[in-house]
Amino acid sequence: MNFSDSEIVASILNENDFESTNEIRDADVIFINTCSIRDHAEQRVRKRLEFMQSLKKKNPLLVIGMLGCMAERLKKQLLEEEQALDLIAGPDSYRDLPRLLTEVASGNKAINTLLSIDETYADISPIRYDSNGISAFISIMRGCENYCAYCVVPYVRGKERSRDADSILSEAKVLFQNGFREVTLLGQNVNSYHWKLDGTEASFATLLKKVASLDPLLRIRFATSHPKNLSDELIQTIAEKNNICKSIHLPVQSGSTHILNHMNRGYTRDLYLERIHAIRTFLPDCAISTDIIAGFCDETEEDHQETLSLMEHVAFDYAFMFRYSERPDTLAADRYKDNVPIEIKDRRLKEIIELQQKLSFKSNKKDVGKTFEVLIEGFSKRSTEFFSGRNSQNKVVIFPITQNIPGDYVQVKINQSTSATLIGEIC
Ligand code: SF4
Repeated sequence: MNFSDSEIVASILNENDFESTNEIRDADVIFINTCSIRDHAEQRVRKRLEFMQSLKKKNPLLVIGMLGCMAERLKKQLLEEEQALDLIAGPDSYRDLPRLLTEVASGNKAINTLLSIDETYADISPIRYDSNGISAFISIMRGCENYCAYCVVPYVRGKERSRDADSILSEAKVLFQNGFREVTLLGQNVNSYHWKLDGTEASFATLLKKVASLDPLLRIRFATSHPKNLSDELIQTIAEKNNICKSIHLPVQSGSTHILNHMNRGYTRDLYLERIHAIRTFLPDCAISTDIIAGFCDETEEDHQETLSLMEHVAFDYAFMFRYSERPDTLAADRYKDNVPIEIKDRRLKEIIELQQKLSFKSNKKDVGKTFEVLIEGFSKRSTEFFSGRNSQNKVVIFPITQNIPGDYVQVKINQSTSATLIGEIC
């Protein structure tokens, strides 16, 4: 989401006669777009500000601003704590950046952290920078109202709002016309997207079908799906359209119903497994990935074992795994004790990561001998003699270069695999 927001900010500033630069020492204004989901992310931003302060010593006119969730969470306190900062803007205040910069130019510190109930930046065409020219993100909604106990997002990104479907469709169309071949529709919980389209109420499945109908050569991905809102209609839509990628990111967070209730996730272990069963029934070749938190408040050894057994049962293709870290102002911070000792959290996380590595390795090994349609994204990071691309299941595929170019679809037969990559050749 933050990457997508940075492209919106670049567009707003571009309209106001600013240009972006890849060389930090040439910049007159530097914005850091921040995340508050984990304490580690905030600590890294604080470190980065120390470096910014050193740039400011060399160039006292340099303006440094903080955007995003950390700006929203800490507001004015940040201006007091961080000498380097001149400006603070929350996720719904980016249209106000030109005015805030003028305020800074007149010698003041500037801040706007007002949250909105309707801002979606629908009319702004994001500037695609740092792009491979093949894949792009399209933000389809903002905010979240799920209030998972561990999460700051509802407090720092405000109420859930869906973006005008027509503006999403025209953004996807323009991207395709400009050579992009893959769009990822983004929202905190895309499954609860809703909008009036052609006079009727449109669900996320309807939107997905419309975007996929723009052109069969445009691949569609989406993130993130909330298990409690993953409908059969959506699963069937993915099955119907070849260009909707067969890959679903479905964060489970824990395999224990007791912990899921505690997290306020809105589903049980059984309901999650029932949704997995529905995916496997309609989409037998679909990759499933997830997020897992180790050591949430009151998590017992038995709860942890339930997480491991759920992972084995689902056989996730890959996962993002974290140790629970308490975030201020969340429901968990207010009501629960962060009472799992750090050594136990670390041990449980290690067991989760080790299991996932085995599952990912096994999942990739099963692909050896198969042939996949791969969208070429560019050269492999390790060698210009190899292309890198992804298959519909979102797995990275490496293969020797041919006369094809990035943006082409090719058929690749897989000869080898690791836990992270498939290696093959065009056939
Ligand atoms: S669904 Fe839960 S975890 Fe995801 S952004 Fe919303 S509150 Fe946070």
